[in-house]
Amino acid sequence: MLIDTHCHINSEELRLDARALITRARDEGVKKMLIVGCDYEDSCEAAAMSEDFSHLGLYASIGIHPHESKRYDEIPPEFRKISGMKRVVAIGETGLDYHYDHSPKDDQKRMFELHLRFAEEVNLPVILHIRDAMDDAMEILTVHRGLKMLFHCYSGGLEYLNEVLGMGGMCSFGGAVTWDTKSSETLREVVRKIPLENILCETDAPYMSPSPLRGRRNEPANVKYVYSRIAEERGMSFAELSRAVEDNAKRFFGWE
Ligand SMILES: [Zn+2]
Ligand SMILES: [Zn+2]
Repeated sequence: MLIDTHCHINSEELRLDARALITRARDEGVKKMLIVGCDYEDSCEAAAMSEDFSHLGLYASIGIHPHESKRYDEIPPEFRKISGMKRVVAIGETGLDYHYDHSPKDDQKRMFELHLRFAEEVNLPVILHIRDAMDDAMEILTVHRGLKMLFHCYSGGLEYLNEVLGMGGMCSFGGAVTWDTKSSETLREVVRKIPLENILCETDAPYMSPSPLRGRRNEPANVKYVYSRIAEERGMSFAELSRAVEDNAKRFFGWE
């Protein structure tokens, strides 16, 4: 079984095509997909889709993306109820993104902190989006060590890997592991060295298409390219990696 632990099937680009692309993914062996929310409406949509398509292996995560943090004073109160839905298995994506700085850093930090406290309160894992902000993020996360953390689209390099592993963090890798760029080479170094039990795979669809589809709209079926490159880098079989990632995801999300 393959698993896409981070996709935006609820996005404008993919929503109308949801049924077809979920079917394509399942035909490729992707039996579980986690839809990630980025703002209030988006999170409601993710939760609703995870129920509508529960028979097809969909799950949801609810949160406010760091880009959107300036629009919020608090965690939407409705999130308390939504977080109790059966298919909602995580809080996020939350974190810090200093690469684009779409929201002021103070707003990002404030909402990040609120998400971590909320995740503790409802006892769910967090999905972290951290870009060019590892120092600040680690400082905030150290206080919340007890949380289960998934560093989505991990980009901290070997530099931060030990710290992340020390907090029991999982790293999720996407299309970037397949690209022919210098930063992707750095990422592949991480992929070769990280313990097998800390690896998860994702597409971040509709973004981040893997080679050979780079530049095109991404979808969960393409997670197979991520698996095959990681397996190749680690000198293991595709089947062996799939089994390990399946175990990792089960342990992390607590799903059946
Ligand atoms: Zn993200
Ligand atoms: Zn995302």
